[in-house]
Amino acid sequence: MNTPYYSGIITNYVCTAACRHCMFGSSPSCPKDFITSDEAERTAALLREAGTTSVHIGGGEPFMNFTALLTLIEALNRHNIAVDYIETNAFWAKDDGIVKKRLKELSKRGVTSVMISADPFHIEYVPLNRVINLARHLNEEGFDYFIWQERFLRRLLKLEHNRTYNRKELEGILGKNYVADTAREYGVGMNGRALAIASEIYKKQSYKAFLNSPPCRDIMRPQHCHFDLYGNAIPAGCPGLSIDTQEYLYENIPEKKYPVIALLVKKGVGALYSYAAERGFVPDDGGYPTKCAFCYALRSYLIKNAPSDDLSPACFYENIDKTLSEEEDS
Ligand code: SF4
Repeated sequence: MNTPYYSGIITNYVCTAACRHCMFGSSPSCPKDFITSDEAERTAALLREAGTTSVHIGGGEPFMNFTALLTLIEALNRHNIAVDYIETNAFWAKDDGIVKKRLKELSKRGVTSVMISADPFHIEYVPLNRVINLARHLNEEGFDYFIWQERFLRRLLKLEHNRTYNRKELEGILGKNYVADTAREYGVGMNGRALAIASEIYKKQSYKAFLNSPPCRDIMRPQHCHFDLYGNAIPAGCPGLSIDTQEYLYENIPEKKYPVIALLVKKGVGALYSYAAERGFVPDDGGYPTKCAFCYALRSYLIKNAPSDDLSPACFYENIDKTLSEEEDS
């Protein structure tokens, strides 16, 4: 059985922000679906059965529905799974009373650590004063917390704290290449919405350059994978691929149900290309910046023309398609 470690639970895909590097392509336009008590209970029970003893919680933005977040934490508590930390962009940290109340509720349920995102991508959506305010309250309430990443916060502190900044302004302040430079320094996984950043960094190559890539066996590696509100496991680094949590943990991947994943794990992206080409896919003459960008193009075609259970959630493909077409137009 697969035992996930350093894994996370996604309470919702919807987010107040739509950051350039977001692996899950979250945005305000995702459906306002949040983890239910039944799904929280099922996921917690399955993870415990698999031997997982702790997880982190993320999104989307988990604080968009605090009740759903507490429901998940309570389910984890019932199954003796500790919360390593909760990720947040701090959008909600504007009212001191609400912040204090929420931190007390988390503390009562055994949460001790929070991760606050702060970087040149989040600042397009969340002003710094929310980040600073949340950090202050966490400190006062005795939480552990960390800023991801602190080096960016130090650089951003010179900006006005009560407003957001757009790309053009940030290019003037941080330098023309700040998007690519930040992604490199961050160590951003070049997938999800960051596929658009990959196009800025890497030279596009013909799809033929990727046809002999090795199988993507890491899909079944449970380190750093995520489990979402829809009851699916999302392999680490490969957003948009989904496998029912129970089937993932028991390593039961029926080919009929999961044709895309079966091909990728056993043979690689070249085999997925043949599968998609048989169904009418035509590669872009302009090429692709990376193997994963080519993989995304194949899957984006398949979800529209030959959908299967392993291609989800739909909002991921809608959001990434939108980002990539905006990038082409710009
Ligand atoms: S090619 Fe596809 S399956 Fe393989 S690592 Fe990239 S996104 Fe994941």
